[in-house]
Amino acid sequence: MRGLVWFRRDLRVHDQPALSAACAECDEMIPLFIFDEPLLRSKEYGSAGVQFMLDCLDDLAQSLAGRGLSLRWRRGEPVEELLRAAREWRIDTVYWNRDYEPAATQRDAAAAQALLRRGIRVMSFKDHVAFETGEISSSTGTPLQRFSAYRARWWAQWRVSAPPVLAPPPPGGGKASPVECPSASDLGYEPIRRSMPGGESEARRRLRWFLNEPIRDYAAARNCPAADGTSRLSAHFRYGTVSSRSAVHVALATLGRQGQTWKTGVQTWIDELIWRDFFQHILAAFPRVATGPFRPAPPAPYRTDDRLLTAWSQGRTGFPLVDAGMRQLRQTGWMPNRVRMVAASFLVKDLGLDWRAGERYFMEQLLDADLAANNGNWQWCASTGTDAMPGYRIFNPSLQARKFDPDGTYIRRFLPELASVPARFVHAPERMGVEEQDRYGCRIGRDYPYPVVDHEDAKRQYLAGQRRREDPHV
Ligand SMILES: Cc1cc2nc3c(=O)[nH]c(=O)nc-3n(C[C@H](O)[C@H](O)[C@H](O)COP(=O)(O)OP(=O)(O)OC[C@H]3O[C@@H](n4cnc5c(N)ncnc54)[C@H](O)[C@@H]3O)c2cc1C
Repeated sequence: MRGLVWFRRDLRVHDQPALSAACAECDEMIPLFIFDEPLLRSKEYGSAGVQFMLDCLDDLAQSLAGRGLSLRWRRGEPVEELLRAAREWRIDTVYWNRDYEPAATQRDAAAAQALLRRGIRVMSFKDHVAFETGEISSSTGTPLQRFSAYRARWWAQWRVSAPPVLAPPPPGGGKASPVECPSASDLGYEPIRRSMPGGESEARRRLRWFLNEPIRDYAAARNCPAADGTSRLSAHFRYGTVSSRSAVHVALATLGRQGQTWKTGVQTWIDELIWRDFFQHILAAFPRVATGPFRPAPPAPYRTDDRLLTAWSQGRTGFPLVDAGMRQLRQTGWMPNRVRMVAASFLVKDLGLDWRAGERYFMEQLLDADLAANNGNWQWCASTGTDAMPGYRIFNPSLQARKFDPDGTYIRRFLPELASVPARFVHAPERMGVEEQDRYGCRIGRDYPYPVVDHEDAKRQYLAGQRRREDPHV
């Protein structure tokens, strides 16, 4: 039998269900990746994400070549290209791992229908999450909507049937030379300086490093943006260079070896992977969230103000923690979770702008841009999501900065104009007098902006609007 494995967001050979099944069933197997031309043209993802994906493909091509398999690639409309490839190569079965984004679900349904009509078998597998939506539901069978209930069921399910980790196809099996994939500029994207290497080899190295030590202090370090205290594996999970199932297994094995002192760190980290599964589940069960709020509510009266949106996206709001995060994002394609939360809350609750504008901008800039995680988190920050808390959570950007970057190390790393400003002013530099501004080489209004809004005023306005929406008679 001749099989085709359609690689998508699963660019690895270890614990890869579609690849393992094809290797077990087929005498001959062709691995294929399709560059989705309409998606590339939409520029939904930016250069950082595309470059990361290309690095992952290069690494995958090398690993497959070492197993006698030559990764082929095509470029065009995915269903048409898949059908053409299956016909040309006289394929009997096409294998892929499932993707839960609404557009991908539709694409896969169309592909499966067209292949079956031509007598070609389709095999699809769970891969991207530990448990799919249908495997975790409420006692009445409806999809869970609250993280706490989902987390409890997730663990209960893990205890009775933890998904196994699959062995990679063995090396050898003849010689194949790795194909060369197109470059970012071939695909119409600007070449960028890489801030994080992609690929399965790097993902495995980074996971080993993280579990060897940093995970012990993860619960506290994850909130300190100046520390390298998190795994930085999100883009790897996004492109599937490491499976989240295997990450949970190895984290639990680490806990088994290290004992109680590592417990909080390991459990907090696994909780984040459960958040990841939860947002995949929300997107799969409620695909409407991709375009609108999860929580049915009267639409918030967001304002349109390009000047404020530009100040936010370029890191020039006059709020140092927000600005440092937004500049880090533009320079590196990454931002720590705590700063993402503060920057997102600031866009919605201080600037009064629509969360969907921020969501789009993050999708373009993030290396780990992922519809489910990005949308779920933006909705959480905008208080439109699954969160049980109503819309009264508002981050104070200066207090957050004082708490999590007390000496301003992170802020100064990305805001060179504040490099000499001492810790007592670095979280609110507009409080410096003119003499101090001159002494520390930072004139407010010239080198660094005045705050674009007054946080307390903005908070009052936001809360008044929130109360009016909940009770129009107020
Ligand atoms: C406004 C906003 C937008 C976000 N957009 C994305 C996105 O597009 N893609 C993305 O992967 N994450 C997104 N996140 C979640 C989170 O910020 C990143 O996953 C995390 O910062 C990645 O760093 P890490 O790999 O070191 O994570 P770690 O702290 O090491 O966590 C391990 C893994 O758990 C998952 N994870 C961690 N936190 C979350 C979370 N809050 N929600 C869902 N999964 C989580 C990630 O896969 C991460 O790699 C967003 C958060 C916010 C507040």
